[in-house]
Amino acid sequence: MSLLSIKGLVKRYPSDSGAQIDVVRIPSLLVEPGEQILLQGESGSGKSTLLNLIAGIVVADEGEIVLSGENICALSESERDAHRARSLGYVFQNFNLLNGYTSLENVELGMSFGSGVDRSYAKNLLDRVGLGNRQSYRPEQLSQGQKQRVAVARALANRPKLVLADEPTGNLDPTNAKLSLELIQSLCSENGAALILVSHDPGLDDKFERTLELAELNQAGMAGAEGRSA
Ligand code: ADP
Ligand code: MG
Repeated sequence: MSLLSIKGLVKRYPSDSGAQIDVVRIPSLLVEPGEQILLQGESGSGKSTLLNLIAGIVVADEGEIVLSGENICALSESERDAHRARSLGYVFQNFNLLNGYTSLENVELGMSFGSGVDRSYAKNLLDRVGLGNRQSYRPEQLSQGQKQRVAVARALANRPKLVLADEPTGNLDPTNAKLSLELIQSLCSENGAALILVSHDPGLDDKFERTLELAELNQAGMAGAEGRSA
């Protein structure tokens, strides 16, 4: 069984003129356990919206998203929050770390809504991302690259089956971006997690088993749907 199965997924937003635009219109997409996928597309093409739909942060207008056997689209908001905490890791572009909390606490927060806090595993993850000696630092005491690595450790804290990463290297210099990408990929494969990673960086295709172009995923819906407005 696929880890993630998307069918007939539609998300609309109102445009400036007030008309509804299909931002996401994906007839079908399957993601297998452990698969690593690069998701590309122009700015504004709907990449973040798709990740947020899969995470249950944004609600679909039509279709279904089945993750680990559960159709997210049929869940209430609180059920979606619980499902996300149990099944998903999410690395946001701006990292979304909680200020006022240490690195270790930020990773533990990634556990507290899911399987429960496991301090030794949280420390283990921080070691793994090279921050064993920064456990008690708060986000404002960390560099961009270090914050990003805390965010990666937090995303893996619940041993998720799927990790979503939205332009995780966008705020990093090229050296840190490369290291960080390698770290995300190796942590996902070590943990048997599938990965959907959004990036604009050129030349990443050969580092991924599969590359998806959002415009192509959306294409079937665009054909014939003049201007994609309803
Ligand atoms: P990407 O991540 O590929 O740059 P997004 O998914 O952020 O693109 O946005 C896709 C499109 O949806 C954009 O045109 C954006 O303006 C629109 N959009 C995103 N979120 C909202 C929202 N909450 N309300 C209205 N339009 C939105
Ligand atoms: Mg985006």
